[in-house]
Amino acid sequence: MYGEIEGTGFEVHDPAFEACFIGHVRVERLWSGARWSEGPVWFAAGQYLLWSDIPNNRILRFDDTDGSVSVFRAPSNNANGHTVDRQGRLVSCEHLTRRVTRTEHNGSITVIADAWDGKRLNSPNDVVVKSDGSIWFTDPSYGILMDYEGARAESEIGACHLYRVDPSGDVTIAADDYVKPNGLAFSPDESLLYVADTGITHDVDGPKHIRAHPVRADGTLGQSSVVAECTEGLFDGFRLDRDGRIWTSAADGVHCLTPEGKLIGKIHIPELVANVCFGGPKLNRLFICGTTSLYSVFLNVNGVSPV
Ligand code: MG
Repeated sequence: MYGEIEGTGFEVHDPAFEACFIGHVRVERLWSGARWSEGPVWFAAGQYLLWSDIPNNRILRFDDTDGSVSVFRAPSNNANGHTVDRQGRLVSCEHLTRRVTRTEHNGSITVIADAWDGKRLNSPNDVVVKSDGSIWFTDPSYGILMDYEGARAESEIGACHLYRVDPSGDVTIAADDYVKPNGLAFSPDESLLYVADTGITHDVDGPKHIRAHPVRADGTLGQSSVVAECTEGLFDGFRLDRDGRIWTSAADGVHCLTPEGKLIGKIHIPELVANVCFGGPKLNRLFICGTTSLYSVFLNVNGVSPV
């Protein structure tokens, strides 16, 4: 389990990356058997990780106390991205039901958002919760474009936006200038919101970048600027460490970017990577969703605590 897996390893693009990893530490493949792994989220109290296997319509659970993997929820409504809110509750994007939900402590499901202006959402993809309790999610059309990871349907809204759900429950468009908004994460001080656009999936000239928006005190966003263009495939889901580095999915593994978007290094993974999250008691372990498999690697950095 701890031997070198073919196709893995660290690649340094800038000497600053050398302090981020431990030279002899290897990438581990924890489990294989998914069709499309996405949406990892760490639960500190339970010492387990949940992640989505979207086409198989299930959420899987990796138990860090014994290394076992089991089915957490099936059917999952083709759930994609997840996060935990400030009360430690699971918040999920569901393709099939075209909604964002919260799983309460008693196991019941609360719908957080399923429409904007009376029209159904497309297929929420990824979600984050800000410290003020607001919930931010992206709504590209991947879950309604085909039946593989949702159900084919027309877009009622006719566009793919970034949304903010106020603690009052009101759903507003936070940004309307994306082609396919996807992964998103706040900077450690929440002054910036980073959002990936994966518009290149359906247009060779489409975006494959991460943008940063200034976050205003009133909950609105300032004008965004592109901080990084993906050099291998596209940026899907990503997370930040406490120093503000961006650890993002890409076609050849995980790319590590400075807060300004400079590529300083890579973790090679032998499968397409869709998303990552920090976990473990010290949040110094990066969990990596690589198509059929769940990988992890201990790093010399710590993730931003989600709660
Ligand atoms: Mg995504």
